[in-house]
Amino acid sequence: MPTPSQRPALVWLRDDLRLADNPAVEAARASGRPLILAYVLDEESPNIRPLGGAARWWLGRSLAALGAEIRALGGTLVLRRGAAAEVIPALVEASHAAAVFWNRRYGAPEIAVDGALKAALVGSGLLVGSFNAALLHEPWTVKTQAGGPFRVFTPFYRSARQQEVSPPQRAAGTWSFAEAPPGDRLDDWALEPTRPDWAGGLRENWTPGERGAAARLATFVDEELAGYTQGRDRPDLPHVSRLSPHLRFGEVSPRQVLAAVRHAADAGTVPGRDAEKFVSELYWREFSYHLLFHFPDIGRQNFNARFDAFEWQPDATLERAWRKGMTGYPLVDAGMRQLWQTGWMHNRVRMVAASLLIKHGLTDWRQGEEWFWDTLVDADPANNPASWQWVAGSGADAAPYFRIFNPVSQGEKFDPNGAYVRRFVPELAGLPDAFIHKPWQAPADVLRRAGVVLGETYPRPVVDHAAARERALARFARIRGEL
Ligand code: FAD
Repeated sequence: MPTPSQRPALVWLRDDLRLADNPAVEAARASGRPLILAYVLDEESPNIRPLGGAARWWLGRSLAALGAEIRALGGTLVLRRGAAAEVIPALVEASHAAAVFWNRRYGAPEIAVDGALKAALVGSGLLVGSFNAALLHEPWTVKTQAGGPFRVFTPFYRSARQQEVSPPQRAAGTWSFAEAPPGDRLDDWALEPTRPDWAGGLRENWTPGERGAAARLATFVDEELAGYTQGRDRPDLPHVSRLSPHLRFGEVSPRQVLAAVRHAADAGTVPGRDAEKFVSELYWREFSYHLLFHFPDIGRQNFNARFDAFEWQPDATLERAWRKGMTGYPLVDAGMRQLWQTGWMHNRVRMVAASLLIKHGLTDWRQGEEWFWDTLVDADPANNPASWQWVAGSGADAAPYFRIFNPVSQGEKFDPNGAYVRRFVPELAGLPDAFIHKPWQAPADVLRRAGVVLGETYPRPVVDHAAARERALARFARIRGEL
C-alpha cells in the first residue's frame, strides 16, 4: 500500500492518444503523484457506438505507438477491456489511486458514462478532474445572443473566433510512474484484420501515433499549406493536411495545429489567406462537435425534422455499385476506391460521392454514413453524421436540397487532367483527358485504343445523371412546402 502522498494519479486516455498538450496528463503530473496511464476498450457501455473496421485498425496502431512512447519514459500503458463504469474503479482499487483525470468527450452516451463515473469516484473520496483536449472551444461556451446553441456555421465561427484559444502545453520535465496494475496484451484485442488482411493500403498510407501526427503536420505546414485556398478542392493535388484521423484519435490537438499554422503565417512562410482558410475548416470540425453536443441525436435523426417526410427509395444495385466504386462515374468510383484502399477520401469527392448515393440513388443518408463509419480511418462521431446531413440537405446550415452535384462536371473542374481518376481507376488510364470523366461519350476507336470495353472492363453509368436529377428534384419538391 503506497503512502498517502505516493498514491498514484490515474489518467484514463480515450480520444486523446498523445502525451504533449494533454491537459489530463499534465494535471496528473502537476499533482506530484506517480502516474498510471490507462486505455479502456469499452464495447459494453450502453449506446456507445462500436468503432468501424478502419478505425479499429487505426486505434490498434495508435495504442502501439503510445505504448512505445510511454515505455521509453519508463512507464506502461495499461490496457483493459470492458465497461468503463467497472474497469476504472477496478483500476483505482488495484493501484490505490487517489486521483483520476481524463479529457472530455462530447457524445451523449459517453457523457452519461463519464458523469456517472465522476459522481461515483468523487463519492468514494477521490479527486477527479476533466479537461478539454479535443476542441478549440467547449461547445457550451459559444452561444447566440439569446444564449442558445448556433445552428448556422458563419455566426458560430464569428462568435467562436472572438474567444481566446489557450496555447498548447508541452510535456516537459521528468516523468514518474507508479507500478502498473496488470493489463491486456494489445494483440489479444485483435484490432487489426487478419482473415482477410485488408489493411495493406492503410499501412502504406498512414503512420498512426503522436509522432506520425507531428510529422504530417510539419510536412503540411512546410510544403502543402501554401496554395490551400484553391488547392483544397483538388483531389489530384497534395494541398490538404490529411490530419483528420490524427485529430480524430487525438494524436495531435487542434490547438497544436492552430498554433503551427499561425506561426507559419506570422513568420511569412505561408500566405495568410491560405492559413485563414485552413483555420476556418478546423472550425467546421468545431461546429460539428457543437452540433453533436447540443443535438445529440445528430447521427440518427434528421437535424431538420421536416425531412422525416422524405420518401427514400433505395436502389440496391446502385448502392452496391457505389460501395465497390463501380458506378460508372469515374470521379465517384475513384473516391470510393480511395476510401476502400486507403481508409480516407478527399473532401470534394466525399461530397460528390455522398450526393450520388443520396440524390441519384434516393438512399437515406444514414446508410452512407454507416459505410463511411466502417471504412474511414477518420470516422468521426461528429463530423461524419454532420457532413452526411449537410449533403442530404437535412442538416444544420446544409447544402440546399436542390443542389445535386453533377459527377462529370465536378470531375472536369476539380480533377482537370484526370490524374486522380487514373490513379484509382487504372482501367481508364489510357483514355484521353477529354473523356476521362465520361467514358461512355468516347468514340469507339478512342475506347478501343485505351483498352476500355464499357460494360466489361468498366461499367456504364449505373444511373443517368439528368434523369436521376429530375427524379430527385421531383421527390424533394414533395416536401418543399415543408422546408
Ligand atoms: P483539411 O482540409 O486539411 O482540413 C483540416 C481539418 O479540418 C480536417 O482534418 C478536419 O478535422 C477539419 N475539416 C476539414 N473539412 C471539414 C469539413 N467539411 N467538416 C468538418 N471538419 C472539417 N471528417 C472527419 O474528420 N471525419 C469524418 O468521418 C468525416 N466524414 C465526412 C463525410 C462526408 C459525406 C463529407 C462530405 C465530409 C466528411 N468529413 C469528415 C469532413 C472532411 O471531408 C474531412 O474532415 C477532410 O476531408 C479530412 O481531410 P484533411 O484532414 O486533409 O482536411
